[in-house]
Amino acid sequence: MILSPRTVKLTTRTGIDIYRSLPHRSLRTIGAWCFIDHFGPTSQEDAMSVAAHPHVGLQTVSWLFDGKVEHRDSLGSIQIIHPGQLNIMTAGRGIAHSELSAPDAKIMHGVQLWTVIPDTFRNTAPIFDHYPDLPVIRKKGLKVRLIVGEFMNEESEARIFSPLVGAEINLAPGSTYQLPLRPDFEYGALLVVGDIVIDAEEVPLTNLYYSAPGKSMLQISTVSGAKVLLLGGVPFLEEIVMWWNFIGRTHDEIVAMRDDWNLESDDFPYFVDKIGGRIPAPELPNLRLQPRGNIRPDIN
Ligand code: MN
Repeated sequence: MILSPRTVKLTTRTGIDIYRSLPHRSLRTIGAWCFIDHFGPTSQEDAMSVAAHPHVGLQTVSWLFDGKVEHRDSLGSIQIIHPGQLNIMTAGRGIAHSELSAPDAKIMHGVQLWTVIPDTFRNTAPIFDHYPDLPVIRKKGLKVRLIVGEFMNEESEARIFSPLVGAEINLAPGSTYQLPLRPDFEYGALLVVGDIVIDAEEVPLTNLYYSAPGKSMLQISTVSGAKVLLLGGVPFLEEIVMWWNFIGRTHDEIVAMRDDWNLESDDFPYFVDKIGGRIPAPELPNLRLQPRGNIRPDIN
């Protein structure tokens, strides 16, 4: 099954387009991956300028293909990431952060992903992790940068809370490769550069190929070369409420998170950045938010 992204504007002073693949009306999660935003490539100088905003109950996973972004957060972290490096922020019971792209980077291209933290761990204290060196797997015509989890006998040390994999797959022009899959995982393959055919289906640029559990291999081939983001995990079965930048389990939890942020509670300590200001949580919809499980896609 192939899913097209929605185009959304990032809640920022800038106007770059974001391609949002998850959540999707036919698929809410892939493993615990619950949010896929793909931005760029763009040469807009202030491509990313997202003022302080909170997160609860999830991890943010920031990964660049091109460019340079400075992260700051309410733990006091200040960290620039470059392509091939990982910033992973475990919000746990609450954190605030801001993100600013560096003007000296000519092209900005990357993804921001979220994972849902399972109930057992979701109230953990917030943690920010930066991984400058992650495993790189090289085979003929293939180069894989492993982001999280295990893949092709390598393991990323990045902190995660459920069985997941995330990898940047680079294919040389004219190559075909059979990627090994875990049959207990479901997978998504997002085409970010070039062209690909997966298991005889052509995937349009910026689209997500979904593969249900039960397969042990994915055949992927390209004519002009390709960069693909592979995300997988054991299907996430808990019912969640995902609203704005928060993930909870009930409507009332979300109301409390929103109040904590908008009333500037101590759960979200103030921090200094080059952007200034903070993004207020929007009005809640005029109905009770319902916990929802994942919808299994209609494969027909
Ligand atoms: Mn964020």
